Amino acid sequence: EFAMGSSTEHSAYGPTRNPWDLERIPGGSGGGSAAAVAAFEAPLALGTDTGGSIRQPGAVTGTVGVKPTYGGVSRYGLVAMANSLDQVGPVTRTVLDAALLHELIGGHDPLDSTSVDQPVPGLVEAARQGAAGDLSGLRVGVITELQGEGYQAGVLARFHESLELLTAAGAEVVEVSCPSFVHALATYYLVMPCEASSNLAKFDAMRYGLRVLPEGVDAPSAEQVMRATRDAGFGDEVKRRIILGTYALSSGYYDAYYGTAQRVRTLISRDFEAAFGRVDVLVSPTAPTTAFKLGEKLDDPLAMYLNDLATIPANLAGVPGISLPSGLADEDGLPAGFQVLAPAMADDRLYRVGAALEAALHDRWSGPLLDKVPALEGVAR
Ligand code: GLN
Repeated sequence: EFAMGSSTEHSAYGPTRNPWDLERIPGGSGGGSAAAVAAFEAPLALGTDTGGSIRQPGAVTGTVGVKPTYGGVSRYGLVAMANSLDQVGPVTRTVLDAALLHELIGGHDPLDSTSVDQPVPGLVEAARQGAAGDLSGLRVGVITELQGEGYQAGVLARFHESLELLTAAGAEVVEVSCPSFVHALATYYLVMPCEASSNLAKFDAMRYGLRVLPEGVDAPSAEQVMRATRDAGFGDEVKRRIILGTYALSSGYYDAYYGTAQRVRTLISRDFEAAFGRVDVLVSPTAPTTAFKLGEKLDDPLAMYLNDLATIPANLAGVPGISLPSGLADEDGLPAGFQVLAPAMADDRLYRVGAALEAALHDRWSGPLLDKVPALEGVAR
């Protein structure tokens, strides 16, 4: 619902299941897109990534998900969750497919005032180049703060294996610290609800959206209709974020919460700038764990929020990121994701590195990972 959550369990239409294990979540909020692609129901899909909603579903379903540079793909016609973070992007089975779709949907749109008025770099060309497997001269930075504690052993094992493959392809891999990233989650969970609560105010039952009349009231006032409508129309998670955002934006608290969050956001952007002065791309595991069980984190919003630890910094800074499957975690046989981040408007680097790694992993896992989806055994496709 309104692209919230990391599991699709907040959807007004009910949850989507992960084709790798039907008792598990397909990630979120773009879990429907990712599951459809993983299950061979669609070759291509779109998602909106506000805090990771394209990349994290990609990671837990073994698909490729790309969050373009902020403003790189038009948001015209999109229902906003948090305007300064939202970005539309592709969900596909291969890096080249993502490049093809991204090139098609990317570019300037005068109908979106945040759309970047610059040509999209050659993404398909970069993917084709990368697939040749030569990364010599490329500097890769492993983000110190996005590994180690809290990450599942199997996810880390696949991550380190991918780093070795990048080195074997000629890349130079170094570690880079981005100290402000430890505050990214807290920053996001202030900025996002503030913007979401403001956006959702337009669902007022008068000029926009659903209209529900209160029961047993003869001539209800506008306020009564609004109240009944918003009560019936919004789910629990949406209400939780409206309350958080409205509180954080209330007079007296505005600067302490929203103002501080915006200042930390600047520090995160500066960390990226400093890091990209030293390396061409930054990498981390996409999500700390493989797909968790449906229901497992539903009653614990904080545990759910923690899933976005590694994807959120890119949204706060507006830089692009890709997640591609790095193989199956040993302990549960479920897909893990490898994330690559690049400077704004350098989306082509994601495709070069992604395609090179994909080619190397293809040999390591003897064939496309998605041919191993257990739920699809024997299904013609
Ligand atoms: N899971 C994050 C959230 O709940 C990200 C959502 C998104 O990227 N749309 O806000």
